[in-house]
Amino acid sequence: MKISVIGCGYLGAVHAATLASMGHDVVGVDTDAEKVGHLARGFAPFFEPGLEDLLRDGRATGRLAFTTDMDLVADCDVHFLCVGTPQSKTSELADLAYLEAATRSLAERARAGSVVVGKSTVPVGTVQRVRGWLVGAGAELAWNPEFLRQGTAVKDSLVPDRLVYGVDDADLAPGAQAASAVVRALDEVYAPLLHAGVPRIVCNFATAELIKSAANAYLATKLSYINAMAELCDAAGADVTQLSAAMGLDPRIGQRYLAAGLGFGGGCLPKDIRSFRAQARELGVESVDAWMGLVDEININQRTRVAEIASELCGGSVSGRRVAVLGAAFKPDTDDIRDSPAIDVALRLAQAGAHVTVTDPKAINNAWMRYPQLQFETSVAAACDGAEIVLLVTEWAEFRAIDPIDLAERVSRPVMVDARNVLDGDAWRAAGWTFRGLGTGARR
Ligand code: NAD
Repeated sequence: MKISVIGCGYLGAVHAATLASMGHDVVGVDTDAEKVGHLARGFAPFFEPGLEDLLRDGRATGRLAFTTDMDLVADCDVHFLCVGTPQSKTSELADLAYLEAATRSLAERARAGSVVVGKSTVPVGTVQRVRGWLVGAGAELAWNPEFLRQGTAVKDSLVPDRLVYGVDDADLAPGAQAASAVVRALDEVYAPLLHAGVPRIVCNFATAELIKSAANAYLATKLSYINAMAELCDAAGADVTQLSAAMGLDPRIGQRYLAAGLGFGGGCLPKDIRSFRAQARELGVESVDAWMGLVDEININQRTRVAEIASELCGGSVSGRRVAVLGAAFKPDTDDIRDSPAIDVALRLAQAGAHVTVTDPKAINNAWMRYPQLQFETSVAAACDGAEIVLLVTEWAEFRAIDPIDLAERVSRPVMVDARNVLDGDAWRAAGWTFRGLGTGARR
């Protein structure tokens, strides 16, 4: 099939590359000429494991191209909308301006009978607006929310947990699905995945929009829940790592997304739960509004707590202290610093007068120009040179592997705050460090 992918950021670039690897002819379009230049030459404009291999394969087979020229999508059978839907600057609502611009531009070019498929995360009800922007194009519309996670995005796209097709009510009538042009088009796009047994859910538009929001809200809930338990553990002298391990052994609960720490960030979960909250408010559903508000509050409070712990371990203030911060990316295996808890903590400490040096294996290039109040180093050793306190805020594998005896020789005071609960506190204490995790009060 001939497919266009409009918006080639963290989602779209991976989607375009994986579709080409499935044998489709794909053209990725983005308004960012620099990004397109990188992608067209086979280089990922951001760090995502496995993406460059796919980009180079796509280039070699001639099945994958990138452009800034929307006219090149005109003969495509299917168009995927993958542009950003960030939080509005003035409210918790999602800003749909990029989606509107991309859709209107597509509407002028899409051929009649082609299928436009939304993948961006949108508030429930957005599809009706997109339909309005597409009026006159003669194209069909579907919504196919994406669940990939940065850091494992290629694998998530090639082996997704499920495919969700949001379609028109008429296509859901008994017997209508098999004949539906959008269902058939999506089945053809995803044929290799469907053959491999990936579950497919065909539902109405509102359900598809809500499946994505509800899934993200649940993940955020699980993380904030265990972070609230961490606070309780600290207050009660209990250990949240043992608590979550024991809870997670119950298969109804499960281990994943149950690790207490600095909380979630990135370009998706925070803005998605705020948008979900705003949607619930508009729809008059107070429980979801209040719930998401609390999840967000607990999450942000973790950042405050970590900054307070650092201050406490510096005798009440970090002012004038040399602080090393291990991590800038919002999570490991990505260079993305959008709404990064790591950067947030570093900025809070700098604001309080600390001299903060940050290191990160991949994200420094994204961070150093934007935050002149922070210092950046490319190695843990250099970042920790003379530090009076070290904070681990992103759980990169190489930070987990730090030898506390070696690092003790670089710092001026061996004090470690493990804000991701990934280090062996006993080993660090044995190496002479003052060591604090989150919710591990019993082991202090
Ligand atoms: P991003 O900011 O990395 O990428 C968006 C891209 O769209 C940018 O490259 C931008 O230049 C481009 N763009 C904007 N307007 C355009 C236009 N008119 N025409 C062509 N290109 C245009 O964002 P992202 O992280 O890829 O997220 C995109 C969407 O996917 C969001 O709705 C997000 O919530 C959703 N999503 C993201 C992830 C993820 O892990 N990043 C996962 C699932 C869903």
